[in-house]
Amino acid sequence: MEIYDNFLTCDIVIETTRRCNLSCEHCLRGEKENIDFNTKFLDIFLSKLKKIKGYEFQLSNVVFSGGEPFLVPNIIRELIEIIKKYNDNELSYYIATNGTIINEDVKNFVIDYLMECVNSYSDSELRCIEISNDIYHEPLTEEQENFWKIFKMVGFRNSRTTSVLNEGRARNIVDKEKVEVSDYEVCISDYDIDIVFYLNCNGEILLNCDLSYDRQRNMPYPFKNTVENLDINEWLDDIKEKIEEEEENEN
Ligand code: SF4
Repeated sequence: MEIYDNFLTCDIVIETTRRCNLSCEHCLRGEKENIDFNTKFLDIFLSKLKKIKGYEFQLSNVVFSGGEPFLVPNIIRELIEIIKKYNDNELSYYIATNGTIINEDVKNFVIDYLMECVNSYSDSELRCIEISNDIYHEPLTEEQENFWKIFKMVGFRNSRTTSVLNEGRARNIVDKEKVEVSDYEVCISDYDIDIVFYLNCNGEILLNCDLSYDRQRNMPYPFKNTVENLDINEWLDDIKEKIEEEEENEN
């Protein structure tokens, strides 16, 4: 067994679809687009992540984001199967949803998704669903709220007093405190890299999960790369170099 001094820990956030059934005022993505995630992108990306040289690679959290992920529950099922193929440690999974889509496919998916956690008898493997329930989202109907309350592991986010991210449609909001979003979420120390990979519906990988579709389109290399062209070792070197250069310029 190879022993490594260096660790690369990462979270992967997957943009399951750019479709959404709502049009919230604060949507950080901007205008919705008619495109879903192609599961082959994750397969290719994970196979390349496995080839990182010199680092012990640890995948810790997987987030299914959107758009609205419950427009595509069957894509999420496929993604979980792909992740299991590449990863034998236990992971936490998280889905952020507006909670308004409840059909047979969603019901079956939610039951299977949560039951897998119960059956694993493990505290470390978490399956979380969080409902965005705040002043910007359409309020849930009683029926929708009652459906989600059946599942104790489902969290309700209530962000009535918090600020919004200054991305996408939220840029037009004038009467709320807004937080700027940085180009990347990467922490580099002498031995470790802690990184958030965001896989979008176009098969691109970015280094922050809170970017609008417009900002994603305009993000330059190395803060964006494509899954298919990716040379993971070269890319990590380029990311490190660019971030160190930016930090030196700031000091
Ligand atoms: S904030 Fe979420 S629910 Fe609202 S439009 Fe954007 S993706 Fe859809």
